Amino acid sequence: MSAHSPLRPTGPDAEVAELLDLALDLICVAGSDGFFKRVNNAWTDVLGYTKEELLTQPWINLVHPDDRELTISEATKVFQGYKTMRFRNRCLSKNGSYRWILWTAAAPADRQFFYATGRDITELKRDEDLLLAQYSVTRVLAEAPSLYEAAPHILKSICETLEWAVGTVWQLDKNRGLLRCVETWHIPSAKVAEFSAVTRSRTFDRGIGLPGRVWENADALWIEDVTKDNNFPRAPIALNEGLHSAFGFPILLGGEVLGVLEFFSPQIRQPDTKLLKLLSAVGSQIGQFIERTEAEAALRLYARELESAKQVAEEATKAKSEFLANMSHEIRTPMNAIVGMTELALGTPLTSEQREYLSTIKDSADALLTLINDLLDFSKIEARKFELDKRNFNLRDTLEDTVRLLAPRAHHKELELGCHIQTDLPDRVFGDPIRLRQIVINLVGNAIKFTDKGEVMLHVERRSQSEQVLDLHFFVSDTGIGIPEEKQQTIFEAFEQVDSSTTRKYGGTGLGLSISAALVKLMGGTMWVESKVRQGSRFHFTVVLELKKSEPEPFSKESRKLIDLPILVVDDNASNRRILQEILTNWQMEPTLVKSGAEALSALQDRTSTDSFALVLLDVHMPDMDGFAVAEQIRDKYQGIKSILLTSAGRPSDVARCRELGVSGYLTKPIKQSELFDAIVTAMSEHTQDLVRHESASTSMRPSSSALRILLAEDNPVNQTLASRILEKLGHNVQVVNNGKEAIEQIQAEDFDLVLMDVQMPEMDGLEATMAIRASEANTGKHIPIVAMTAHAMKGDRERCLNSGMDGYLSKPIRIEELKSAIYDVEKKQTAGQPCGQGQNSFRAIGRIEVLLDAVMGDRDLLVEMAELWLADSAKQLTLIKDGFELGDATMIQRAAHALKGSVGTFQATAAQDAAKELELSARDGDLHGMKKAFETLSNQIDFVRQDLSQLSRAPAADGGSKP
Ligand code: ADP
Repeated sequence: MSAHSPLRPTGPDAEVAELLDLALDLICVAGSDGFFKRVNNAWTDVLGYTKEELLTQPWINLVHPDDRELTISEATKVFQGYKTMRFRNRCLSKNGSYRWILWTAAAPADRQFFYATGRDITELKRDEDLLLAQYSVTRVLAEAPSLYEAAPHILKSICETLEWAVGTVWQLDKNRGLLRCVETWHIPSAKVAEFSAVTRSRTFDRGIGLPGRVWENADALWIEDVTKDNNFPRAPIALNEGLHSAFGFPILLGGEVLGVLEFFSPQIRQPDTKLLKLLSAVGSQIGQFIERTEAEAALRLYARELESAKQVAEEATKAKSEFLANMSHEIRTPMNAIVGMTELALGTPLTSEQREYLSTIKDSADALLTLINDLLDFSKIEARKFELDKRNFNLRDTLEDTVRLLAPRAHHKELELGCHIQTDLPDRVFGDPIRLRQIVINLVGNAIKFTDKGEVMLHVERRSQSEQVLDLHFFVSDTGIGIPEEKQQTIFEAFEQVDSSTTRKYGGTGLGLSISAALVKLMGGTMWVESKVRQGSRFHFTVVLELKKSEPEPFSKESRKLIDLPILVVDDNASNRRILQEILTNWQMEPTLVKSGAEALSALQDRTSTDSFALVLLDVHMPDMDGFAVAEQIRDKYQGIKSILLTSAGRPSDVARCRELGVSGYLTKPIKQSELFDAIVTAMSEHTQDLVRHESASTSMRPSSSALRILLAEDNPVNQTLASRILEKLGHNVQVVNNGKEAIEQIQAEDFDLVLMDVQMPEMDGLEATMAIRASEANTGKHIPIVAMTAHAMKGDRERCLNSGMDGYLSKPIRIEELKSAIYDVEKKQTAGQPCGQGQNSFRAIGRIEVLLDAVMGDRDLLVEMAELWLADSAKQLTLIKDGFELGDATMIQRAAHALKGSVGTFQATAAQDAAKELELSARDGDLHGMKKAFETLSNQIDFVRQDLSQLSRAPAADGGSKP
């Protein structure tokens, strides 16, 4: 403070002088020569110099060396007439420290000097820096993933903003009980190489050195000069490298020390409590950060563990389904023998008692197989390994065939079984027919099982349809025992049954509905039930099927002839009557419905000869007067009227009875629409007087068309015997080998028409053997058909077999029908595509000579004669077909194709026969495009047959067969 005169000065000058001296800001007049001309008392108060000291040295000496350049350029601008509004620099005070000063300055017009006012903002700047330091640490912590990555950035921001030269982060190693250096950092200008190296490699125990003391007290510590501190082990190095002041603060979490931060400065600095307080807050912030990152790391570790646990679980599931596949293989192999041997035994003469026993064995074996399949399905669904196998299929046929499969069971219990499919549903749909069938079998099967009297009906109707999808509603109704309300939900769960007592009346596993419900879900639908105890149940489900674009079905010629056909339907069951009515009306026929034989007779009587019925559809089983009795009346009284009988139980004697009664057709219920249609067409065509009997294929042991030489590769002796017995019974020659290796050797030694290859065999399995056979065929150009036989039933088996080069696939237990159709496929392929000289047959299109000769009891002349006849007749038929095309007469084409179909069959020309059949069908449907295509194939095939047959007539009679 300046000295005052005891008396208050008077006048403006004195006032200005007093103002200057009392002002708290630094005020000065600086000359263009670089010296102050005048300074006020504040200069002495703030910086500690005397006025003398200030006025006798260039003012730039007071400015921090780093700020001088900027200060000079600012002063120059002021001399040029600019005004300084806000300019900061650091000025040296007498005690060696620097003060931050904020300046305003302006020069008068003559610019010989300038006036400047400065305010000491050191404290303000310090607060700002502290905040800035805290802010930058916060930012680092927000972005860094771990303390290791955050540490260098934290140290740098604190050192730079608060002007400390060196900083270190220490972390507590809880296991060893010591502090370890995480990171040390220094400003580039600091020469602290040794101090940094030693710090990096050191650890500190509790209470030792700066970090150890911070840890022990869990509190910040300030040391004015470490070189003079007696608990600072790094003191000699600090002295060497010129470090003096230091402070440290703890990284705290809930009062617990996790680490320590320390900073060093080359200056000696007074303890700064504000700084310590603020940085302690930063320490807690870092503590929370460590906690968070550790939690995140733990979470990541947990996620990794979870991932590997998931993998283990998946492998276990895979192992489980493999185990199931193997188990099912193990169970199926003996089952194979049981089912097959029983089928064989049933084909031999038996007493009725023996037949009953064997039938029971077969039924039980079939039930066991169903159970195994169910378990396999269930485990696949459980393991979410279940996929639908989608393809195009005929909806109506599939459903009707499925229901028909269950007919014997229903008829055995004297139940009516029917199938009511909304008539205008599209036939061709895209979905998984096998699984749809499985659902229907389960529901209809259950309905039959739980119903003792009355009827079981499958209804199918459209919920909605777009161009791409068809949403269907199915329901199966029965008049059975019903399900109590409280059980109606649980039965859809696995192994749940209404009656779970051991003494229950109905068999089953309780798996069917849960599998069906899961399948329905896979098909985009839901399943539910409505039921009343002792009244019956309705199981509903919906599924979504895809619609793939296909040609609209042409309205067939045959049906055009049948439009308005008056038909009398006689059936006592109302549901059946309704179904028939809907079907017939849909075909634009004119059905009249009655419910008994008596009503039928009076309806017939009511009509005059001009408007009489053309056809009567007659249910066989009716109370009072059965179908046969009505048919008899019709035969006797109404000779022009055709009749078709519908029966539930196809007894052999029925056929004879029908023949006797002059019945035109005989159909087994549930009726398939396509068969009913064919039966009506046949009945109504004038030429066909023969009785047509439509029924599903039986498993009779008729030999198949030609004897093949078959190699059977199978390791299980029971299966060997079984398969060879079946094959021999079918009229083939069988050679048996035990494994893939033997199969290869045998094929090299002999020619075979077909190989049946077990997949699992010792030494060399079927897949490997097949690949080896295919590889060797690459040189010879041959291709021997190989059909897999496997007890594996897992998805992908089939693909694996086909990929290895097999041509077909049979799953064990081998069923006679499946085996026959596999063999038939092979025969068909052989006769269709086999060039001359391949295999045993020197003919391209017709069957093997031995077989053809067999059919005429070895009479070669007769065969040649037949061939000649055929050559003449086929030419005639081909001409008729061509004429038919010219005249646009499809019926003509159909007839000729039909004739050809029959006649080429004599020579086992299957490809030609198929083509003729195709032509016949497309002609029947009026499908011109199909007709043309089929005719082209047919002409080619007929050419081949002709070539073969002319070769046959030329061939020497003794040859008896031709080996190339
Ligand atoms: P399963 O028939 O093998 O026992 P499902 O899962 O197919 O197994 O059926 C579970 C149970 O639901 C049956 O045991 C039966 O109690 C009941 N149930 C199913 N369908 C019917 C039905 N149509 N009428 C009465 N009860 C039925």
